[in-house]
Amino acid sequence: MKIHEYQGRQLLASFGILVPAGTLVESIEQAATTYKQVAAESGSDLVVVKAQVHAGGRGKAGFVKLVRSAKEAEDAARFMLTNRMVSVQTGPEGLEVTKLLFAAGVDIADRAGGAKGAKEEFYLAITTDRATRRNVLIASREGGVDIETVAHNTPDAIIKEPLHPIMGLQQHQARRVAFELGLKGSQVGQAVKIMVGLAKLFEAKDCTLAEINPLIITPPTPTHADGQVLAIDAKFSFDDNATFRHKDIQAMFDPTEENPAELRAQRFGLSYIALDGNIGCLVNGAGLAMATMDIVKLHGGSPANFLDVGGSATEEAVTEAFSIILADHNVKGVMVNIFGGIMRCDVIAAGIINAATKHKNPDGSTGFKVPLVVRLEGTNVEAGRKLLADAKGSLPTLQPATDLTDAAMKVCKAVG
Ligand code: GDP
Ligand code: MN
Repeated sequence: MKIHEYQGRQLLASFGILVPAGTLVESIEQAATTYKQVAAESGSDLVVVKAQVHAGGRGKAGFVKLVRSAKEAEDAARFMLTNRMVSVQTGPEGLEVTKLLFAAGVDIADRAGGAKGAKEEFYLAITTDRATRRNVLIASREGGVDIETVAHNTPDAIIKEPLHPIMGLQQHQARRVAFELGLKGSQVGQAVKIMVGLAKLFEAKDCTLAEINPLIITPPTPTHADGQVLAIDAKFSFDDNATFRHKDIQAMFDPTEENPAELRAQRFGLSYIALDGNIGCLVNGAGLAMATMDIVKLHGGSPANFLDVGGSATEEAVTEAFSIILADHNVKGVMVNIFGGIMRCDVIAAGIINAATKHKNPDGSTGFKVPLVVRLEGTNVEAGRKLLADAKGSLPTLQPATDLTDAAMKVCKAVG
């Protein structure tokens, strides 16, 4: 599960990490008054308007704008609320933006000894490193909007510090990272506090990713001779298997940011992930679903989805599964691959027939128009096959398959 930046900022603040104040805006009409309020509270006319969507790359897409007047704030809000955001992380169709964060803008110090225009923007994140099976702190001096390029072209610019499985991130580790980042004076202590806080947050809330990019340093002032170290972006993902024990995180769930088909599937206990191919797959068991997608690929096809109906799906859930698969207009054929263990093949067959009789085509007719290849094996397989054979009238496009390879070849051939 992901959350918005404005929610992430609240989390950071609750773990003692300094974040500039901000307010959520959901309409163009609110823009001018909110601008004035945020500017008045921070004592600066610089405000940053930021699209709140579950995707990054907003800066480069023009969906993070620094404004200095109510008029500019309103223009930025109008642009973001009336255009879809297309960034490197969204795909060409982009995302609709319905929420904006108006945050106090900050000045960023020039990079000491850096190239002209270079600013003190750092990358800081905690995630799980599967290779070492540890949580790891990742940091870089080259933070900001080009971190992906940095990681790709100059991997040496990325610092990694593993967290102790029980003790978490130690102060001395955080200090070492702070020095490696080139921080000086009171910046070190400020950054250590942020790193340790972020590690605690990651652990306490069962995160899979806790990212601050950029972490910045403000220019020196008489009261802060080394500047202030602040988080001005926040990105979090949480382990879905652990959200049950975090009511506060659950409350941050925003269904409008989720794929509607995936949400619908969740309600029926189906694990569904939309993909971009044209062969719908209905399978029981996650391992078999992976193997099915592999074999479809092997025979030149491309899966439209991952769908695991689980070990004990009801006829109703199977009917729903078909309805979700066929709602995807890219689907040109469906492959059903069931190995009945706890799952009974006759339940699946009944679900297929039920789904076919209920399925409505755009032209008003009922029944499946797309080729349907079915491979059944295991518990009650004979009963299942008989049900399908007897229902041939309502399943004109049905092709039974003898095994996995036969099924994959048939469905790939059928979609052309
Ligand atoms: P992202 O592109 O989706 O990761 O959005 P960010 O929140 O990271 O903003 C992108 C970039 O905008 C940052 O790397 C900064 O360079 C700039 N930016 C964002 N907020 C501020 C701010 O308050 N002041 C200044 N000077 N720059 C900002
Ligand atoms: Mn960012």
